[in-house]
Parts: sequence; C-alpha cells; structure tokens
Amino acid sequence: MSAEHPDVSSDMPPLKIDPARSSTLLQNISSIHTRISSTCKSHNISKVPRLVAVSKLKPATDILALHQPSADQPSPPPPQLHFGENYVQELLEKSKLLPQSIKWHFIGGLQSNKCAQLAKNVHSLWAVESVDSAKKAQLLDKGRGQRNEELKKEQDGNGAADAEEMLRVFVQVNTSGEESKSGVEPKSEDLVNLCKTIREECSNLKLQGLMTIGAIARSKATTPETENEDFVNLRENRDWVAKELGVDSEELELSMGMSEDFESAIRQGSDEVRVGSTIFGERPPKSEAKVLENTEDGKK
Ligand SMILES: *Cc1c(COP(=O)(O)O)cnc(C)c1O
Repeated sequence: MSAEHPDVSSDMPPLKIDPARSSTLLQNISSIHTRISSTCKSHNISKVPRLVAVSKLKPATDILALHQPSADQPSPPPPQLHFGENYVQELLEKSKLLPQSIKWHFIGGLQSNKCAQLAKNVHSLWAVESVDSAKKAQLLDKGRGQRNEELKKEQDGNGAADAEEMLRVFVQVNTSGEESKSGVEPKSEDLVNLCKTIREECSNLKLQGLMTIGAIARSKATTPETENEDFVNLRENRDWVAKELGVDSEELELSMGMSEDFESAIRQGSDEVRVGSTIFGERPPKSEAKVLENTEDGKK
C-alpha cells in the first residue's frame, strides 16, 4: 500500500473505551433518535432524516463507542455510521485510526489549500458539506479523481473492481447573511452557477444538496409555532435551484439542524441533521482537544 493509504488495521492502536463514558454516549444518542422519530411521527414525515454525529474536538474513543456499541448495554442503539468533523488534520488522523465502515462528513470551513488533501487522503469520506466556491469544488474534484486512479491501480493487482465512487458535496448557503458565516448568497447567480459547475464540470463529485448553519438568535427564537427563518430559506433555495437546474426538488437534500434546533429543521423538511454537543457534551477548546485520549502521548 502507498504511504497515502496506509493500512488502517495494522497501525491501529488499542483504543480503550471507558464503559461509563460509553454508556453515557449511547444513552445520549438514543434520546436523539427518540426525539427525531417522535418529531417525524407527529408531523407525518415518512423519511427519517440521517443523523450525523458531530465529533469534532472529541477523542477517537468516543466515536468508536457509538460506531461499535457495546453489547453490555441494556438496549444498545444501532451502530452510528455518519460522523461530522470540522478540521482537516483532525479528520485525517481519525480516519486513519478508526474503522473504514465509518462514513465521514467534512462540515467545517473549507480552505482551498486543503481541498485536495481532504478528497484524496481521508478514508471513507462520504460528503463535504461546506463547498462555497467553484474553485474549491474543482480542487475537490481533482483530488477525488487522483484518489480513484490510485485505488484503481491498487485493485488491478487484486483483480477487484469497485470503489470509483463520486464524492458527495453540499453547497453551503449563508441563509442568515451573517459576515461571520461562510456560504454563498441565497438565490444568487453564484449559487446556481456553483451547482451547475459541480454537476456539469466535476465528474468525480455528486451534488447532494444544500447546507446551512443559520443564526443562533433565530434558532433560540424558534418555537413550534414560529418556524426558523433559516430553514424556511434553505428549503426555498433548494426548490429554486432545482427549478433552475431542471431537476426534481427531491433530488437535492437539505442538511440543516443542530443540537439546538434539529426538531425545527425536521419540521421544515431536513434530510440530515448534524448534532454534536447534545450527544458528546461540551467541546474542549481546540488547543486542548486530543484525538487519542488514553495513551501515553495523548495524556492531558
Ligand atoms: C459544530 C457543528 C455542528 C454541531 O453543533 P452542535 O450545536 O454541537 O450540535 C453542526 N454543524 C456544523 C457545521 C458545525 O460546525
């Protein structure tokens, strides 16, 4: 295997999961599952949205505890497949340490100079959700193409085919118009052009849908009676983009809803919610975050 695709299992350190921590995490995620399904039920939503567990700044053992739930639990939830990360370096490390059955989502601020690395070197990268320029899309496309070439070469030796999967991307829309948030302007030419570029010029990418973060103030002001403007806005943008592209609205997903507001997002038709702190607890400052917690060099 090349240096860029090291064999995951061979240098996998023993990850020790603390049983008490594991139990807490499994209870937390179970309660999110319950809240998601009861929201769907009471609003006659038949397609339950995907849950991405946002594990940024949390140790690899936390992820493993949810991905391979201990059978000692009274009623363990199903293995969690989708995890979201915000930092390229951290995601690279985690994807090397953890099973390839995990489906990774990159949801953080995307820098052009990290796109190739992300698309090429992260094992089992399922989606990049924060695409906001044609340049970044093209760099991701190129990186993914190079990865596919390499995988093909490796597999030719073994006679295996497969794996030429397209990388799913979401276009991030700045629905709240806040300067601090990235994303393209709603209902803009930039938005349609970016979506067209991805569909027409990036053969290694699949336009999966649109993503928004939204304003904290709006999520705090949301009640069951007053819907969150950001989510209404993203849905309208999705319908508008679909029309411009001449595709069915259902072909484009909505990635919206976080710990504070995922139920409101589901009521607005979210296909994917990204929940972090309600599952994993508060995050440490970035300078104190450790991928490996219980090993010698990972000690706090
Ligand atoms: C951190 C983050 C989340 C999760 O936020 P919580 O409030 O902890 O649930 C979701 N989406 C994005 C883009 C994030 O950066």
